[in-house]
Amino acid sequence: MDNCIFCKIVSGAIPCTKIFENDHVLAFLDIAPLADGHTLVIPKAHFATMFDMPAELAGKLGETLPKLAQAICKATNTTACNIFQNNGRPAGQLVDHLHFHIVPRTPGDGIIRLGEQSPYPAGRMDKVAQAIISNL
Ligand code: 5GP
Ligand code: ZN
Repeated sequence: MDNCIFCKIVSGAIPCTKIFENDHVLAFLDIAPLADGHTLVIPKAHFATMFDMPAELAGKLGETLPKLAQAICKATNTTACNIFQNNGRPAGQLVDHLHFHIVPRTPGDGIIRLGEQSPYPAGRMDKVAQAIISNL
């Protein structure tokens, strides 16, 4: 993709601070980290979101995450991290080349807060589950 910043990083047209690569996957430090060691893990091939990604490639990407997360946590002296992935603008995606974030966490850092959560009203949970299952 000509106008994709992460494709340009894969091709070497834009530099990155690389921490890992194999035939399918590249991992590099986020340029504006939530914490030291905040890493982006991307497929070398361009897919905008998880919706577009072939399952086999999702597997190849996913299998790199445990080792990367362990190394990132060790290097930043913690045992906690968030691994997350945004799909679409309402979900916070700014770069339209699929990527996982790995963000090391330390007690009280407060850098990622989930929104307010509340239980389902009676009967709704089963309906939502059925709707999802019928789309699988
Ligand atoms: P998103 O919001 O799409 O899930 O996250 C995009 C991430 O890419 C952001 O955390 C942002 O700091 C990072 N980013 C954007 N442009 C560049 C870049 O040119 N180099 C690097 N290393 N990270 C980038
Ligand atoms: Zn791309």
